Amino acid sequence: MKIPFLDLAEINKQYQVEIQKTINTVLENGWYILGQELQSFEKEFAAYCETKYCIGVANGLDALILILRAYEYCINDEIIVPSNTYIASILAISAVGAIPVLVEPDLNTYNIDPTKIEEKITKNTKAIMVVHLYGQTAEMKSINELAKKYNLKVIEDSAQAHGAIYDNKKVGNLGNASGFSFYPGKNLGALGDGGAITTNDDELAEKLMALRNYGSKKKYENIYKGMNSRLDEIQAALLRVKLKYLDKDNNRRKEIAKFYLGNIKNENIILPTRPQESSHVWHLFVIRTKQRNQLQKYLADNGIQTVIHYPIPPHKQQAYKEWNHLSFPISEQIHEQVLSLPISPIMSQEQVSYIVDNINNFN
Ligand SMILES: *Cc1c(COP(=O)(O)O)cnc(C)c1O
Repeated sequence: MKIPFLDLAEINKQYQVEIQKTINTVLENGWYILGQELQSFEKEFAAYCETKYCIGVANGLDALILILRAYEYCINDEIIVPSNTYIASILAISAVGAIPVLVEPDLNTYNIDPTKIEEKITKNTKAIMVVHLYGQTAEMKSINELAKKYNLKVIEDSAQAHGAIYDNKKVGNLGNASGFSFYPGKNLGALGDGGAITTNDDELAEKLMALRNYGSKKKYENIYKGMNSRLDEIQAALLRVKLKYLDKDNNRRKEIAKFYLGNIKNENIILPTRPQESSHVWHLFVIRTKQRNQLQKYLADNGIQTVIHYPIPPHKQQAYKEWNHLSFPISEQIHEQVLSLPISPIMSQEQVSYIVDNINNFN
C-alpha cells in the first residue's frame, strides 16, 4: 500500500464541482479584489469563529504581522512566543522590529508552558503570542490570567487550529486578535495563499481593514503606512465552499486520531496525550520516539510517507544566528524526536489500520 502524507488533489476533488462553479461566478463577475465574495467569506468565517469581525488577508504570516502593526509594536517591545513554534510566528514579531521572547513548551502538549511565562515578563513586555500547535488549543485560562495581571495583549496564532474549541469558545475568539492561515495544507486550505484575522475589537478591526489595503479606507486617501495584503475573490469564493465542510473534515480527523490513540501500541513510541475532545482538531498527529529517523525510514520502506514538524528549532536557524548559542532543551528534544503520521479527512480505515499495524511491528 502507498500512503502519501497529504493528498491535496484528492482532498479538493471532493468539492471540485462546487469550486469550479464558484470560480466561474468570479470570472463572470469580473471583480477580483475586495469584492462580494470576500465580504461574504468574512461574514461567514466570523460567524464560524463566533467573533465580531473577520478581515481577509493574503496569508497567515501577514495576518500576524498586520495584528502586530495595528498594535504599533516596534523596537524594544517584547512579545512572548513559544520556542518550538513554526517559525512564521517568530518571523512576524521580527518583521515589525519587536523582540521575540522564547518560552519553552510543555512536553506533553507541545504548547507554550504557562508556568514558564511569568519569569520572562519585563516592563517592555507587550503581548503573549500563543500558538495552538498541531491543532490543539493552548492553555488559555492561565495565559489570559497572566495577561490581565500584567496588562498584556493575547494574540493567537491559529494557523493550525481552525474550529478547535476551548472552554466553549472557538479558536479565533480566545484572545484579543487571532491570525489564521489558509495555506493549502491547513485544516481549511485555499488553492493558493490566504489568511485572515479575527477579533471582537471595533477599533482594531477598522484599522486592520485599512492596513491590509495600503493604509487606506477611501481610495487614494492614506491614513496609515499600510501593506497590500488581501484575500482575493477567487480564494474567498472557494473558501466559502470549503468552510461548509470544515466541521465534517475535522470530525474525520478526530476519528482517525482516536483510532491511532487507541490502537498504536509500541513501547518505543510516545503518543500525543489524549486531549479533551473538542480542543484538538488534529492538524497533525505527532508521535515521539528516540528512534525517529529509523522509524521514518521503516515506514517509508513500507509505503507510508511521514513528515517532521519541525526538523530545526527556531533558535538553531541561520536566520536567528544571534540565538544559536542559546539552549532550549525541551524544544531541542522535541525537534529531535517528533514524527507526524498521515492524518487527513480522506484517509480510509484500511489505510489507517495499515499504518497502525506497521508501527506496532516496528522495533
Ligand atoms: C502555516 C503557519 C503560519 C503561516 O501561514 P502562511 O499562510 O503559510 O503564511 C503561521 N503560523 C503557524 C503555526 C503555521 O502553521
